[in-house]
Amino acid sequence: MTEQLAVSRPDPPYPPPGQAVRGEAVFESVLDAVGHTPLIRLARLGAGLAAPVYVKAEFLGPGMSVKDRAALHMVLAAERAGDLRPGGVIVEGTSGNTGIGLAMVAAQRGYRLIVVVPDKVGPDKISALRAYGAEVLVTAAGVPAHDPKHVRNLARSISEQIPGAWMADQYDNAANPQAHRETTGPEIWRQTAGRITHFVACIGTGGTITGTGEFLKQASGGAVRVVGADPETSVYAGGDGSPYYVEAAGHYLHPDTIEDEWPQSYHPAVLDAVEPISDRESIDTLRRLAREEGMLVGGSAGTAIAAALRVARGLGPDDLVVVLAPDSGRAYLSKYFDDGWLLTNGFQDPDGTAPALADLIAAAGPARAVPVGATVAEASAVLGAGPAAGEPAAGGAGSVETAADRVALVVLARPSLVDTWAPGDVVGTVTAAALAGRAAEEAVRDLMQPPPATAGAGESPAAVADRVPADRDWVGVLVNGRIVSVVRRAVVAARAGTEQ
Ligand code: PMP
Repeated sequence: MTEQLAVSRPDPPYPPPGQAVRGEAVFESVLDAVGHTPLIRLARLGAGLAAPVYVKAEFLGPGMSVKDRAALHMVLAAERAGDLRPGGVIVEGTSGNTGIGLAMVAAQRGYRLIVVVPDKVGPDKISALRAYGAEVLVTAAGVPAHDPKHVRNLARSISEQIPGAWMADQYDNAANPQAHRETTGPEIWRQTAGRITHFVACIGTGGTITGTGEFLKQASGGAVRVVGADPETSVYAGGDGSPYYVEAAGHYLHPDTIEDEWPQSYHPAVLDAVEPISDRESIDTLRRLAREEGMLVGGSAGTAIAAALRVARGLGPDDLVVVLAPDSGRAYLSKYFDDGWLLTNGFQDPDGTAPALADLIAAAGPARAVPVGATVAEASAVLGAGPAAGEPAAGGAGSVETAADRVALVVLARPSLVDTWAPGDVVGTVTAAALAGRAAEEAVRDLMQPPPATAGAGESPAAVADRVPADRDWVGVLVNGRIVSVVRRAVVAARAGTEQ
């Protein structure tokens, strides 16, 4: 099941990518060590399944992600095409692993690298790029794809202004899927001695699943089934494109998108199925992987492995599943592996022993929402439909507060068919008081207050009252990262007071 071990040639010229081998190999440069990752069986999470499930451990590459492969192949292809000449400049817009991969290749081959990153990128990632000698330019996050400030557009305009510059453009560069056609696919085929029956991977640029999937289909005469693993709200899996917590996988759709273009690196025809995976299932899976298998992987690996386990449940002993784990959990220690992060984002359920924000949901009722384009008449209809509106509040006889005072509508950047919302999609709140006396056709957009603060359903009211500033009127209660109810901050603070 393992690749044959061999010692690579000690003398340059270096073996072309795909020919050097891992294990006991001696490499003449870090670039020769790209790829050749092992398959590691899910010995415990997969126990009880008839079909073995193997993880393609891309986190063991020299840049610690699957993107080492695409970065190296894109640069080598640009050199061959004459687009990149000695001493040239590489430009790319990326928030993640492609930047690290390119930085490693650029350092080794003597190129200057300019990476444009969105301002939501954590300082550690920027430091890592700079550690390799890359120049980092920070631009606005959360802008639609047609905005000139969007990472890709800014990277393109920089590459056009610098003589001799070449933009890697992983989304539309054919060398990205080609890297996987030439390396990832053949490695898996050899490692499983052709026994693989199912390949599961996430879809970001699509390079991994397209190249690997196309190779495996071809090698097996079409027998290998290729399954995409996708965040539930990503448009690849048929979601509405609203934000999700797993990074670098799926396809988010900014609500102001004019035309949604999918990457040319992604060939959807190679897929036999797509498994939508919720953030909660991705996170639960990657945490189990660390604690039960001793494998520290990133968020998208959690998504892919959750999908692979789902696929494997329906298979028999003659089947063999390979699932690709794109990167290491090291980059996400302050997110998915941090109890505080999980709690404040609603990924930790209340255990029933201590007071929790969840206790207030019943009184507040489920959140209700209108899209930002709604009129006062439409918003009033949604508010009026609520069972709680107009009833006396819990304050009892003599209280001037009505139940309507305890209700705020959330205002959404896009229409939604489901009744929980990603905080990133919520652009404001609007109350009955704000709507009262306004003309029916007036726009909600002009009457809304700021979006609610957010807190996890498992948090204690005291902690939430402490953290949320007193000038924020509303708190959105998060269950599994999505707003399910909106509670007045004053109600949270009052509950916190009764606990002391
Ligand atoms: N997960 C992670 C962590 C990644 O960095 C990437 C690459 N953007 C992917 C998944 C998706 O891979 P691809 O772009 O090849 O589809």
